[in-house]
Amino acid sequence: MKALRRYVTWLAREAKSIVRPDLVLRSIERQPAPQDLRAGVIYMVQGGGTPKWAIMRCPCGCGEKLQLSLNPIRRPRWMVHRDRLRRVSLHPSVRQTAGCFAHFWVRHGIIEWCHDSGSLPAEG
Ligand SMILES: [Zn+2]
Repeated sequence: MKALRRYVTWLAREAKSIVRPDLVLRSIERQPAPQDLRAGVIYMVQGGGTPKWAIMRCPCGCGEKLQLSLNPIRRPRWMVHRDRLRRVSLHPSVRQTAGCFAHFWVRHGIIEWCHDSGSLPAEG
């Protein structure tokens, strides 16, 4: 039964990620204006064919603009991946170090909240 429940959970998640993902990827050439940022979209800003930034509204609902560097020589940097079904993943996780302290992963179009999301990051 446990295995079945796990399978059903997985199946529901797969279906949601395809039919109604939390986030979709949109490639653009220029930084979007703040008023053009829609919830549920990760904007990948490309310059000369090279991914530069991933920009999105904070999915916690605070509306903060998150700007993640995709530049391989900068730190921190993130990687955007799109799978066969065009579902977007981000690596590593995204953490707000001020404000709402949101902490989450984006995996196959779905937001996975970390347990410590919303609280001050522990020292270390
Ligand atoms: Zn937030």
